[in-house]
Amino acid sequence: MHIPKDLVELIHSSARIVALTGAGISQESGLRTFRDKLDGLWAQYKPEDLATPGAFNRNPGIVWEFYNIRRLKACEVEPNPGHLALAEMEKNSERFVLITQNVDGLHTRAGSRNVLELHGNITRVKCSRNCGIITEWEEISGSSPACPKCGAKIRPDVVWFGEMLPQGILKSAMQAARESDVFLSIGTSALVQPAASLPLMAKQNGAVIVEVNLEETPLTPLVDYFLLGKAGEVLPELVRAAWFR
Ligand code: NAD
Ligand code: ZN
Repeated sequence: MHIPKDLVELIHSSARIVALTGAGISQESGLRTFRDKLDGLWAQYKPEDLATPGAFNRNPGIVWEFYNIRRLKACEVEPNPGHLALAEMEKNSERFVLITQNVDGLHTRAGSRNVLELHGNITRVKCSRNCGIITEWEEISGSSPACPKCGAKIRPDVVWFGEMLPQGILKSAMQAARESDVFLSIGTSALVQPAASLPLMAKQNGAVIVEVNLEETPLTPLVDYFLLGKAGEVLPELVRAAWFR
């Protein structure tokens, strides 16, 4: 993959780099994106039929089963060279913020420290009545567990379709986007709001926008650099060129 020399220089010399990642970066670890069709038992469902508060109210058992399988899979796979390259970028740049829409925890396992998880984390659970209980999944047992404090249903600590994002995290993400010199949008279809508006906020404030994806997205016409390819190949190359020449 050829990475333009001026982009390499820019990454090398920028003080404030922000990266936004989506399901595409974890695809090379073996986790499916939301646009891959569900198979086997799940073929009859759309993610929208499983990842919503309505689905959980109607049938918590099936939603739990869906998340149990995804959680086991996420814990079983390893971070890939794309995740590792972003951790390396953080070590080498002055100020680096990683904003992710993924719930798989792979960025942290790859060594990234400054991570804003916009959509929660599949390894945590919380009280569906929001009484304040949030804990690691291992702490809760049973197939349809109840909150130890208020008795309401316990649910995965992820943001479902139609729900608000954790406001403090979203605020920090928007601030980081506005203050960035370079904003990288990686492996995201750039469709899910409000994450999709973060690169636009960065651009309005003068950041250079870089997109890494296997295909063009609605964001592509607005970016300064479009790097076509797998995140697990493009990102290590970018980091190597910028800091390990
Ligand atoms: P998406 O599924 O809508 O889009 C994935 C994007 O990644 C596509 O544009 C695709 O072309 C690109 N892509 C696929 N493989 C790639 C690769 N190897 N390198 C670079 N790009 C690649 O995902 P999204 O934009 O993140 O939005 C969907 C929602 O799904 C998010 O809210 C997220 O929370 C959730 N989700 C998360 C996970 C996870 O945590 N791993 C998995 C599935 C869905
Ligand atoms: Zn509770």
